[in-house]
Amino acid sequence: MTITKNLHNIKQELPDQVLLVAVSKTKPVEDLQEAYTAGQRVFGENKVQELEQKWSILPKDIQWHMIGHLQTNKVKYIAPFVHLIHAVDSLKLLKTINKEAQKNNRTINCLLQFHIADEQTKFGLSLEEAQQLLTSSEYLQLENIKIVGVMGMATFTNDTTQVRNEFKTLKSIFQQLKNDIFVQQPDFKEISMGMSGDYAIAIEEGSTMVRVGSNIFGSRY
Ligand SMILES: *Cc1c(COP(=O)(O)O)cnc(C)c1O
Repeated sequence: MTITKNLHNIKQELPDQVLLVAVSKTKPVEDLQEAYTAGQRVFGENKVQELEQKWSILPKDIQWHMIGHLQTNKVKYIAPFVHLIHAVDSLKLLKTINKEAQKNNRTINCLLQFHIADEQTKFGLSLEEAQQLLTSSEYLQLENIKIVGVMGMATFTNDTTQVRNEFKTLKSIFQQLKNDIFVQQPDFKEISMGMSGDYAIAIEEGSTMVRVGSNIFGSRY
């Protein structure tokens, strides 16, 4: 299967309102170019240096999403161009993004990452932590960031019931934040969940954005 065919097949399965983020981490620029030629304009990367390098080479109408854990000292490298940062999980990181966005005279869209999986290692907030963050005076002063939704990763398991329940948890966190905190903010509408192995379930549970890598570009070695 070629990248073009893979993209075509996945696109056919996605409802219109679900955005496909093509996760191109570790893949060479030629692979991204093929996806671009096939019409793909939204790409996700998880390393700052790789993201910056691919951005500098590829066409400027691509929307670049930072999907991986982001260190505060690296925000400055992507602040001029990044379209959406998926994995924000602290006030400290938000403050840094705000500062770098301000320097670039722009607003940077962010998603709050939630810890929904069993695994200890995955990053993310709890609902309580998010509520605390979002009602803090420091957060309320940030004018150059906009939180447009939530993001989460399910446990890596064959147990589809568990995966489905974790996605349900993220959807319910989204709904509570929407009702309690973002009630006047229609831009808070994104739920980034679902990867190659579980995006079909994620869509059934309300995903608006799937992050698909290996099903498009082949497995990473
Ligand atoms: C790598 C990655 C993906 C894509 O994974 P695939 O299983 O290859 O589709 C999605 N989200 C995040 C955060 C990732 O790091």
